[in-house]
This record gives sequence, structure tokens and C-alpha cells, in this order.
Amino acid sequence: MANYKALYQEVILDHNRKPRNYGKLEHASHHANGQNPLCGDHISVGLNLKGECVDGIAFQGESCAICKASASMMTSAVKGKSRADAEILIQEFLAMATGKLDLDSPNHIGRLAVFAGVRDLPTRVKCAILPWHTLHAAFNSVASASTEAGEDAMHAPIGNA
Ligand code: ZN
Repeated sequence: MANYKALYQEVILDHNRKPRNYGKLEHASHHANGQNPLCGDHISVGLNLKGECVDGIAFQGESCAICKASASMMTSAVKGKSRADAEILIQEFLAMATGKLDLDSPNHIGRLAVFAGVRDLPTRVKCAILPWHTLHAAFNSVASASTEAGEDAMHAPIGNA
């Protein structure tokens, strides 16, 4: 567990120093803004779908370290993936962050597993999942997402995508 925490801190620091895919994507085909009022995080995610493939993706905004690192890793993880595969990853990440994913069963989480610990930090869960909700909103052409939307509104559409 000690190694795991050290890795978590190292990854968060690294992605804050050098966030991947940070900036504005010109001519994004899909775009959404997300906010987490509890922490003050607000980010925007823009992406370009070429056919069903995420050809380009970028994010920007003002957020805490956990949110920024999560967004940075998310954009790296879904770039080049099909929309369907990206939606599966969104679902798995949300399940992991809320303690509902069994990491020992087959999944696509990979390095994103460094965020598994946030499930024990209720105030940080929303920071970690905000980018993923925002990406989901962008895919579905919903202009904005909030971690404070109703539970049903946040989770219902994801399983049916
Ligand atoms: Zn935050």
C-alpha cells in the first residue's frame, strides 16, 4: 500500500507539471464543460471524432491537482480509441472511483488504477471523476456536466450508451 500511495503521488505530480493534451482543440466536433462546485473545479473537454474514433482530444480549465491529473490521464487513455471503447473506460473509471469495480476481474483500467484510492476520500472522488463525466457529456453532445447533478442523471445514460 505504501508503494501504491507513492505511485499515486508521483503520477499526480507528474501530470500537474506536464499535463497531456492541455489546451484548446481547434474545430472540435464535440465539446462540453464540467464543473464540481464542491471543490471549484471547472474544465472543458473538446474532441474530434473521425468516424467512430477519437482522433484528437484536449482539455483546459481551472482545477485542483487530482482533477487535472485525471483529465490528463483520461485524454491520453482515450486518444485513438473508438467511442465505444472510451465509453467502456468511462464506466469502469466511475465504478472504480466509487468502489464498485473489482480490480481483480478483467478491465481496461491499466495505469488509471492509481486513482483507485480516491474511493476512500469522498471529497476527492468528484475531483477525479469530473473529467470523465465531462467526456461522457461531450460524446453525447450535452453542453455541460456537473458532479452535483442528480444521481440518476449522472449514471443512467452511461450504461445505455
Ligand atoms: Zn478538485
